[in-house]
Amino acid sequence: MSNVVKNIITIDGPSASGKSSVSRELARKLGWSWVSTGAFYRVLGYIAHLKDIPEDNEEALIKALSEVDWEVRPQHIQTDVYIGKKLCPADEIYSVENGTRASNVSKFQKVRDAVLQAQRDAYKLPGLIAEGRDCGSVIFPNAPLKVFLSASESARSGRRAKEAGEEIKKVTEALKIRDKQDSSRKAAPLAVPKGAWELDSSNLSLEEVAQKIYDKAKSLYTI
Ligand code: C5P
Repeated sequence: MSNVVKNIITIDGPSASGKSSVSRELARKLGWSWVSTGAFYRVLGYIAHLKDIPEDNEEALIKALSEVDWEVRPQHIQTDVYIGKKLCPADEIYSVENGTRASNVSKFQKVRDAVLQAQRDAYKLPGLIAEGRDCGSVIFPNAPLKVFLSASESARSGRRAKEAGEEIKKVTEALKIRDKQDSSRKAAPLAVPKGAWELDSSNLSLEEVAQKIYDKAKSLYTI
C-alpha cells in the first residue's frame, strides 16, 4: 500500500516563527501528534556540551550519536529529550544557547543523515505535524500539505524573548546568527520547500495561523 497518502503536515521556517506553538495547537485540533525535528539537533548539541565535544568535530559528533543512549519523544506540550533514560530539563534543551549549539551541529550532512530515520519514525497514526527546517524538503517530501511559516525579525525576537524569559537584545542577536547559519549552510539550508504554502505570521496570532492551516487540512485529509 505504498500509494497511501500519509497524514503528514510539515511546517518549516526560521527560528521563532511560531512553528512549535502552531504545531501544538494544530495537533490538538486534529488529534494528531507533533514533533520538533530540531530536538534531534538540540539533543546532540546538549551531549556535546555535557561531554566537552567541540561542536565543529564532525566525527566526534557522529560517534556520540551512535554511542550515547539518547531518545527524542514527541509529547503534547513539547518534544522531550532523554539522555541515559533521564529526561533532560526542557529549559536547558530549549534555551537560546542550546539552539545555537543545535545549529552548529546540524550543519554537517553526516549528522543529518544519522538522525533522518529517527525523525521519520516519529510518524504514527492518526497523523503527524513535523516542524523544522527541512521537513517538507528532506524528511517528508511527499507530505500533502507543506507550510513555510515566516514572521518579521521583530515579531520573532519578541515572541522568543517572552517564551524564554530572556532579554530581547540577546535573543535578537542569537536569532540573526542562527538564521544566517541555517540559511547559508551547504547541507539542507533553510529554504521554502517546493509546493509549500507560505504564511506570514507577523500580524496573526498563533491560534489564527493554526486555524488557517486546519481549514486547509480539512480539504486535503480525511479528518
Ligand atoms: O527548531 P529549533 O530552534 O529547535 O532548531 C534548532 C536548530 O536545529 C536550528 O537552528 C537548525 O540549525 C537545526 N534544525 C535543522 N533542521 C530541522 C530542524 C532544526 O537543521 N529540520
